[in-house]
Amino acid sequence: MNKRAYNFNAGPAALPLKVLERAQAEFVDFRGTGMSIMEMSHRGAVYESVHNEAQERLLRLLGNPKGYKVLFLQGGASTQFAMIPMNFLKQGTVGSYVMTGSWADKALKEAKLFGETSIAASSKEDQYMRIPDLDHLELPDRTAYLHITSNETIEGVQFQKYPETGQVPLIADMSSDIFCRVTDVNKFGMIYAGAQKNLGPSGVTVVIAKEDKLAEQVENIPTMFRYSTFLKNNSLYNTPPSFSVYMVNEVLRWIEEEGGLTAMEQMNREKAALLYDGIDQSGGFYRGCAEPRDRSLMNITFRLASEELEKLFVKESEKEGFIGLKGHRSVGGLRASTYNAVPYESCKALADFMDVFQKQHG
Ligand SMILES: *Cc1c(COP(=O)(O)O)cnc(C)c1O
Repeated sequence: MNKRAYNFNAGPAALPLKVLERAQAEFVDFRGTGMSIMEMSHRGAVYESVHNEAQERLLRLLGNPKGYKVLFLQGGASTQFAMIPMNFLKQGTVGSYVMTGSWADKALKEAKLFGETSIAASSKEDQYMRIPDLDHLELPDRTAYLHITSNETIEGVQFQKYPETGQVPLIADMSSDIFCRVTDVNKFGMIYAGAQKNLGPSGVTVVIAKEDKLAEQVENIPTMFRYSTFLKNNSLYNTPPSFSVYMVNEVLRWIEEEGGLTAMEQMNREKAALLYDGIDQSGGFYRGCAEPRDRSLMNITFRLASEELEKLFVKESEKEGFIGLKGHRSVGGLRASTYNAVPYESCKALADFMDVFQKQHG
């Protein structure tokens, strides 16, 4: 097999080699059925067992929290930005948002299309390079939910603790950090994530939420935009993204085999430390973008002295087999996305490359 790229793509992103190889082995003939999982009816027992297994694994990795259900949806996390207010933002209530970066911005923008919103806290005045103070959230009495973005993929900041919201359901967009660390899901009314960063390929969005939230009846929105439709039909009201769900199940199997979320967290902390330490010890040659306290374990954003030097860094890195180190077009700079499936060896190779680059250009 050819050498694998050092893949630091932000999303779609690296998948575990073991998972890809397993999928390859059963690609044409899925477990003796004489067809690919992609060629099967989603109403058949074979697909349904994969579908249910993925749901069970998602909950098992979270310690089987009581009263929670898993849904598989389409349209990406971006569609959740609209579905959340459509389902939960009733007349006379307010959707509250913690503004932490580009994705929180997009989530708020969609909510404004449906009802009243408020900003509970914001770090916009600091270009979103930190997580705002969570001890003094401004929540109106009529707050329907508080929405947070647990990890801002573009800016590279991540919640280190979650806000206390009392009776107000906490909803988190965990698209870029779900399962990167041990998480107490009981704090949340709902978490959601597009799969293509930390859970699998694109095409499926995972929602994990309290069953009573999902069961709420909303009549004046299309059937496919109601959580209750998916809950009632075990996410099989219409054709699910069956291949993506299968891949998510395999990624979850891999996480379990590696030792679950505790092991993921430990490895992610080691990987991130390798790169952040390199940045901090470079004497200012590399500069981390985010406030150190709020630095993301998943998206490591940093800058060089000039845009020219950053361009050169990207170019030279590509020659050495590194992929995806250019920062998001909206903020520039450099970004290494170190999701669960990015091996320690890739991070070590990047840290070494950064060292050499500094020696040549510092
Ligand atoms: C990538 C990303 C999204 C958008 O996901 P899509 O599945 O492309 O809609 C939303 N939120 C966060 C935090 C992301 O990283």
